[in-house]
Amino acid sequence: MKKTCRTILLLLTFLLLVLAIPVHADAAVKISKKAIVLLSGQSSTLKITGTEEKVTWSSNRKSVATVSKKGKVTAKKAGIAVIKAKAGKKTLKCKVAVQTPYFRQNSISLTSGQTTALTLAGTNQRIKWSSSDQRVVIVNSAGTVLARSAGTAVITATVLGKEFTCKVVVRSAGGSSGGSSSGGSSSGGSSGGYTGSGGEPSMVWVTASGTKYHRTSTCSNMKNPSYISLSAAKASGRGPCSKCF
Ligand SMILES: [Zn+2]
Repeated sequence: MKKTCRTILLLLTFLLLVLAIPVHADAAVKISKKAIVLLSGQSSTLKITGTEEKVTWSSNRKSVATVSKKGKVTAKKAGIAVIKAKAGKKTLKCKVAVQTPYFRQNSISLTSGQTTALTLAGTNQRIKWSSSDQRVVIVNSAGTVLARSAGTAVITATVLGKEFTCKVVVRSAGGSSGGSSSGGSSSGGSSGGYTGSGGEPSMVWVTASGTKYHRTSTCSNMKNPSYISLSAAKASGRGPCSKCF
């Protein structure tokens, strides 16, 4: 019985060794990336490791992405291409997705207090949003912009290191001197975001020492105003400014 056990163990060990060696040798040939996303015009170099064989590169859709003799992939136009690297008997692949992001409008106009969602079409990649002038327009991480005060600002969407811009022209809501609306304490349904025109804004401007809250940052010559939620402004004991509310 013991002898049988030992024989089986030995056999297993032998089998493992025999199996392990070729598997290892094979798995050692690797491609640096199996999938990449590029914007048209961008390039990325793929590398093959673990082989001494000469590597031959090819693309199945050269109109979408080309590859050089050294594995440098260049994105041409939106679509999917498969890059193949042949090294000896081994073929490795990398799927290249080429995207061409764009703004549907290069410029939009808003009135102060208004919000709108900007969409950068043609990409599913993470977008970083920023505004050239936060006094005029702010933008959140979802691309929703809030027009704050009259002026012009540029919203930039950055994708895979490339910048796309949309100009935003803000006109002041203007004219309406009438205090109008609301009996004051309507509990401010602060939906955590911005609010459209009409009714109470969910965000207001205050100064550290002021006792009033304001619709616009430009009201009453405020110095270093901060933008806080209406409910927070009310909770701090501040009341609506008679000029802008
Ligand atoms: Zn005011």
